[in-house]
Amino acid sequence: MIDLRSDTVTKPTPAMREAMSQAEVGDDVFGDDPTVARLEELAAGLLGKAAGMFVPSGTQSNLCALLVHCGRGDEYIVGQTAHTYLFEGGGAAVLGGIQPQPLDQADDGTLPLDRVGAFVKPDDFHYARTRLLCLENTTWGKVLPFEYLGAAREFTDERGLALHLDGARIFNAAIASGKSAELIAEHFDSVSICLSKGLGAPVGSVLVASEDFIKEAKRWRKMLGGGMRQSGVIAAAGIHALENQVNRLADDHENARALAVGLAGISGLEVDPVQTNMVFVESQKINPAFLAEGLQERGILISGYPGQKIRLVTHLGICRKDIETVIHAFQEACAT
Ligand SMILES: *Cc1c(COP(=O)(O)O)cnc(C)c1O
Repeated sequence: MIDLRSDTVTKPTPAMREAMSQAEVGDDVFGDDPTVARLEELAAGLLGKAAGMFVPSGTQSNLCALLVHCGRGDEYIVGQTAHTYLFEGGGAAVLGGIQPQPLDQADDGTLPLDRVGAFVKPDDFHYARTRLLCLENTTWGKVLPFEYLGAAREFTDERGLALHLDGARIFNAAIASGKSAELIAEHFDSVSICLSKGLGAPVGSVLVASEDFIKEAKRWRKMLGGGMRQSGVIAAAGIHALENQVNRLADDHENARALAVGLAGISGLEVDPVQTNMVFVESQKINPAFLAEGLQERGILISGYPGQKIRLVTHLGICRKDIETVIHAFQEACAT
């Protein structure tokens, strides 16, 4: 099957499995796992931060960060369709008593700072205390404009807010923009990265920030059930991913562009411009669920929800030949 549902469907390569099998391990709750320590240091270094914390998922990573930044009755400002707000079960509100203030993103994925400013609450007991601005990069496949990141920092400094980045796909942003992940992370107090997306590791995320911040975050991680024991076995996969599978994200982007060009040539399909590894497709004529069924019969998995754009994601399990196969299958499925 050619699986375009997400870049989370990647499987560890033989070299990655080899690295996992060789990993030196210890009980990481005691701070004894040298491989986890090495991953945390590597990720922190790549993003220009002092310390890192390995966690099982990006959801837990973002939640730990929010819990450090905000207390009960505090508020964070976040995109209406940001993962942290929309796809993490409302964890900040449920488990942290943190009120989200979701705002619509602009077409380029940014939260316009004048609009954010209008929603920062005054210091008055009627309101929650606005503490944090949370951004996402890439967001729905889009790279936030580089200048926006510095402007967001200036804005949050003026307003006394902290700045968190959900950088689940920060390396896609780096590869697409030619800016290093460190430069993209520079203005943020905390950054969460996913190892289990396009980077191809089976499990895990790393939260990076200052030493003090990570010390606090480790308290929350333990409370949330994220203290792991001989987790060097999976951390080794993360190290392998960061050392060997970052630059190849360029292939995913190229494959996504080729896919977009091919699909744009099919009558009835409208394709959004592609920046990274995601292609968004819409059809006025064909029901996405019906299209998904037609493609599945041809060996291709996509997720099609009625009324939504179809999202196709390229990753290390998809090669250029697969793209040709997919374009051909779309031509057939759209013709029926
Ligand atoms: C996948 C993802 C996360 C976290 O995901 P987990 O599935 O919990 O690892 C966070 N933010 C974004 C933008 C993501 O795509």
